[in-house]
Amino acid sequence: MIGLFGGTFDPIHIGHVDTVSLVKRKLALDYVLFVPANIPPHRSSPIVSPEHRLAMVNLAIKDIPGFKCDDREIKRGGVSYMILTLRELRQELGNRSLCVILGLDSFLELPSWHQWTEILEKAHIVVMQRPGWAAPSILPDWWKEANQSSIDELRMQPHGFVYYLPVPNCEVSSTNIRRRVPRSLEKDHGLSPRVLQYIRLHRLYD
Ligand code: ATP
Repeated sequence: MIGLFGGTFDPIHIGHVDTVSLVKRKLALDYVLFVPANIPPHRSSPIVSPEHRLAMVNLAIKDIPGFKCDDREIKRGGVSYMILTLRELRQELGNRSLCVILGLDSFLELPSWHQWTEILEKAHIVVMQRPGWAAPSILPDWWKEANQSSIDELRMQPHGFVYYLPVPNCEVSSTNIRRRVPRSLEKDHGLSPRVLQYIRLHRLYD
């Protein structure tokens, strides 16, 4: 079973890496692809270029077994619709199980995504539920039908389920890091030392 973790990663931080490490362990994923978006469809434009964001993802995960950086959305260019990436991966993976890993905040916006109803035809969705975020008390039908609480079931089918996974809070956010760079980032920055060095070297977010 393979994981896919997409994001803007402007910049990537330990909240991303530690939480996805936990998901990888809990679901015994073979590997996780980190896919930086070229132009994210659902939010304001990133501050730094796709090339810098890609370089930071590479630096943050390069020594972590089972984490791989995938630059297909940046190479493709344009707006990075998840469904385009999933169609390509489905072709490449055949019948292997694929899990899109999403924060609950992102998952709640799913029905606004481009061709969203096709997403569960290509992959499962693993929803990371952080403290402070709750699912709606009345779930829409499509969600109820896809809900699955067995990891074994996820493994046996290539796509189609939503699996809910509570994860601990990690109070780091890219927005906060970007705000703090021009002042001080010496302590508790939530970045890997290599990523911090890269940000300093290229004077990103100054
Ligand atoms: P920003 O502050 O720029 O909005 P972000 O981290 O929320 O940054 P992305 O880089 O696009 O934005 O996030 C990718 C994914 O990481 C999303 O699914 C989001 O829910 C999840 N995520 C973000 N921060 C954390 C965190 N501290 N712990 C766990 N998951 C996180």
